[in-house]
Parts: sequence; C-alpha cells; structure tokens
Amino acid sequence: MSRKTLHPTFQNKQVLCLECRACGNCVCTRGMRAILLANTQVELYSTDIPPEEAVDLVGDHYATNNCQCRIKDVACLQCGSLVGYHVMSPCKSCLLSCNNGHFWMYHSHAVSTVNRARNSRKGVQLMVWKHLPEAEVDPTLAATSVSSLEIETDECCR
Ligand SMILES: [Zn+2]
Ligand SMILES: [Zn+2]
Repeated sequence: MSRKTLHPTFQNKQVLCLECRACGNCVCTRGMRAILLANTQVELYSTDIPPEEAVDLVGDHYATNNCQCRIKDVACLQCGSLVGYHVMSPCKSCLLSCNNGHFWMYHSHAVSTVNRARNSRKGVQLMVWKHLPEAEVDPTLAATSVSSLEIETDECCR
C-alpha cells in the first residue's frame, strides 16, 4: 500500500528501524508501532516492506488462534532467529477492520527499535510516515523488488 493511501491516523507515527535482538542485524527500515487487532495486549511492529537481504520466510503457512489469517514466520537472515511473521492471506475480519495496510509484523520481544531520522531544513528530525519515501524509491530498501499483495485493501480506512 502506498504512503498516500495510508490512513491519516498513521501519518504522524514515527518511522522505526528494527534490529534483531539476537545479532543486531537491521531487519526493517520502515517500521511502525502497532497492536494486534485480534489481541490488543500484544505489541508488535509492522512494515509495508522489509529489506530483501535482511529477512526471509521460513516454514509452512499456518493460522493462529486469533483469527483466520494465513501467516508464515519470518527469520533474520544473519542469525536465523524468528523475528516476526508475514500475513500471506489476510482474513476477512482483519481486512474489514481499520488497518495500516501492513502485512509484515515483527515481535516486540525479538527486535529492538531505533528511530529513523531525516535531514530537513531545520536539521535532523525524527521521520514520521508522511515524510517516508515510497518503497519504490526508499534508498534503505535498495535491492528490493516491490511485490505488492494481490489483495484489494482499498475498502479499509476510508
Ligand atoms: Zn486475521
Ligand atoms: Zn539476527
């Protein structure tokens, strides 16, 4: 989902870089603090697209007790630790609830956060989502080929 279609609620959220707690590898440069819709006690970080060289999908897809989403675990490519999961196919209730359009989630216990900064006329400032470059031109994703999900999510967040 492109930044322009991001719900206003999310526009002023800080952009976070996430580091694998086990090895310090940067596993995300476009992170957002999130809560699990199905269980608001669970704190997570989400992203629209992770750096391609940093993480990979592992194992088979499965569903949790929370909902019908089909998910796959995501591991740090440097040390192999599980750092999160990718929603392969979201369930109806998740699609219909107001979400941020992110299908990559990171466990807060598996990653540590660093605020992403940007240079502006006023000096270095914390970057928020409305200032974040589109994934296609974000230099931190460099080699990433942006593969967008084949799912119609426009119904959310109007
Ligand atoms: Zn779901
Ligand atoms: Zn790691």
